[in-house]
Amino acid sequence: MDYLLGIIIFLFGTIIGSFLNVVIFRFNTQRGLGGRSACANCNKKLEAHELIPVVSYILQGGKCKKCKSKISVQYPIVELLSGLIFALLFYKLHYVLALSPANFAFMIVYYAYLMSILLVIAVYDAKHKIIPNSLSYLFSFVAFLGLFFITSHGFSPHLPTLGQILSGPFLATPFVLIFLLSQGKWMGLGDGKLALGIGFMLGLSHGIASILLAFWSGAIISIFILLSRARGYNMNSEIPFAPFMIFGLMIAFFFSIDLGTIAGWFIL
Ligand SMILES: [Zn+2]
Repeated sequence: MDYLLGIIIFLFGTIIGSFLNVVIFRFNTQRGLGGRSACANCNKKLEAHELIPVVSYILQGGKCKKCKSKISVQYPIVELLSGLIFALLFYKLHYVLALSPANFAFMIVYYAYLMSILLVIAVYDAKHKIIPNSLSYLFSFVAFLGLFFITSHGFSPHLPTLGQILSGPFLATPFVLIFLLSQGKWMGLGDGKLALGIGFMLGLSHGIASILLAFWSGAIISIFILLSRARGYNMNSEIPFAPFMIFGLMIAFFFSIDLGTIAGWFIL
């Protein structure tokens, strides 16, 4: 029964993912979010069965049916990631379902909303090498609000501790300092704004762990990219950092990794 609900939530996540694709493609363009999706090349409107997440991409061999131009692999990747995130949320919050279905519903909608903003930021930064201010502010604001409403048992209005409130600014400070010292060369200010929200969302210990995970995964991937010289990357290439910060956040959040966990890895 439970795994059935998990599969339904995964499938629902892929549908949200295809909506997030539209948000990513149309963000900062004149187009609104309404209207049928169409081929970016020949403008052929997509029919209903071509809108099925992931499946339609595979069935069409990644090509537009009419003009045969390649469809961006971003579509199925974002749909799958979104489905995966929703499924992980279901398992992470599963214990709340046993306590109160209403609280579970509130929690999963809240975190799914935060995660959706983060997925859009990650993909947008990977593509355009910039984090839109409106998205990082929205993320930080929603994460900050959560301090007043979210407990580990679900919805319960309360006043956050000073430590929780300071976690955001504390996590953002090193990024702002790096930005100022390097005059924006090593790191954009957008990463600092993102770190603010991560601090609010995860708290200090999990937040610092997520940033460590971000730097390590970023370093590993950068070395791979440089060695493979893929797509003309070189030492001077700017590699967007938000996808790694968001990857670190997801790992720290879903697998409950905090500073203590990481310290444990190094103490034998
Ligand atoms: Zn086409």
